[in-house]
Amino acid sequence: MNTRDTFASRLRYAPDYPQRCARALDEALQAVKAYTGWRALDPGRSHDAFFRLAALPELVKADLRTHGPEGFVPRGRDVKAALDEHEIELVTTSGSTGDRVTNIWYQPWWDASEAASWQLNAHARMAAVGVHSEAILTSPWCTGFPCEDEYLAMHQRTMGRFLYLSERSDPSTWSVELMDRMAAELNAFKPVILEANPSFLARLSRHIMKRALRVHSPAIIILTYENPSILHRRQIGRAFDAPIASSYGATEAGYVFMECEAARLHQVTESCHVDFLPFAPEHGGPDIGRILVTTFNNPWRSLVRFDIGDVVRLNGPAPCPCGRDEGLTLASIEGRTISLTVTPEDIAVTQGAVDRALSDIRGMVEYQLVQTSPGTCHLRFVAEEIDPRLIAGAAREALQAIYGGSAVITAEPVEAIAPDPPGKYKLAKTLEPVDAGALLDGRFAPRRVAHA
Ligand SMILES: [Zn+2]
Repeated sequence: MNTRDTFASRLRYAPDYPQRCARALDEALQAVKAYTGWRALDPGRSHDAFFRLAALPELVKADLRTHGPEGFVPRGRDVKAALDEHEIELVTTSGSTGDRVTNIWYQPWWDASEAASWQLNAHARMAAVGVHSEAILTSPWCTGFPCEDEYLAMHQRTMGRFLYLSERSDPSTWSVELMDRMAAELNAFKPVILEANPSFLARLSRHIMKRALRVHSPAIIILTYENPSILHRRQIGRAFDAPIASSYGATEAGYVFMECEAARLHQVTESCHVDFLPFAPEHGGPDIGRILVTTFNNPWRSLVRFDIGDVVRLNGPAPCPCGRDEGLTLASIEGRTISLTVTPEDIAVTQGAVDRALSDIRGMVEYQLVQTSPGTCHLRFVAEEIDPRLIAGAAREALQAIYGGSAVITAEPVEAIAPDPPGKYKLAKTLEPVDAGALLDGRFAPRRVAHA
């Protein structure tokens, strides 16, 4: 008997949405090699799609590597011919060596998923007409033109309507001249949209404020690549007079959530289904949990119940003031599952909880929390204008409030905090990763299967 509950059955969706879920599922089970072993677990087409999905395992990154990109292509499609004709390409995600995955990249699907996400924010919908100018400030190793030993001219970093503001991947080493150049280029290029790594744009924003520069404000700033810290958002908000929205997705899964003008994140129901798996109450459930993503309509890649590796917090029963009510609505992305830490009593603490605890400490402009063992945390932080000893004291107190009185918390001022390669800033890390699967409410936990 299947006792798993389905969270999705409690939500509101467009009338054709359950059919789109069923179609994605049927195609995967019938025509995609990677899901051959799942067929026997499917309760069958007489059941609704949400119930069928809940009976299936989760798809993890190791499965993507095991089956390779071709294992997720529906039968009847010729990968080699499509590669030769440049209809698709192979893209290897950045990350540590053991974590790299090669995906088939099909640009039209990606663009459609992005365009659908823009509909979920009033400012993005107005600004993003498809031919708008866009400045991008992220690690050039993620997208753009990397060059770490010399500087590239503006035209060498411009591609059509896109301007890549930095060829350097470590903001902690950016020179004053480089940041002055970024500000000048924003004024010259006048982008409609500024898309940025929040930690990167926060670094530039602190520079803009310090030098009292006047900088062109785009119609909207879209934060992506990293989960934004409250500190980073506040710094960006001081330097730019533009609405800010966080866009959430992954190379594997496309655009999954978009922040609306009322600061909630709405599911991109046009291009994906999201299964929410709540944590047990002691770990923050039922409002906090993991998510699994099932994509729609990508002819070159069938993803079902893919563990995207993040923890989210639901918006709760009150509807979002923006009026959008389809699919999942989140209060926040709580950070990566690998950024989960624990109290001495083994209770999970999300990166979002750490961020909220530290968000009101005056003078702290950046931080990174490292958990060395359960209940032992070391905070490195960058101070500005306030005595670092006062900041350290306030930070220890704030963290003690969430980790408990018996936790050992140390705090140390540092000159700067560098991102991890290829250029992603980590707000929280642990040396002993938490098993996020073990935190789930058992009624929603996916079936565990031996991986091939
Ligand atoms: Zn909303």
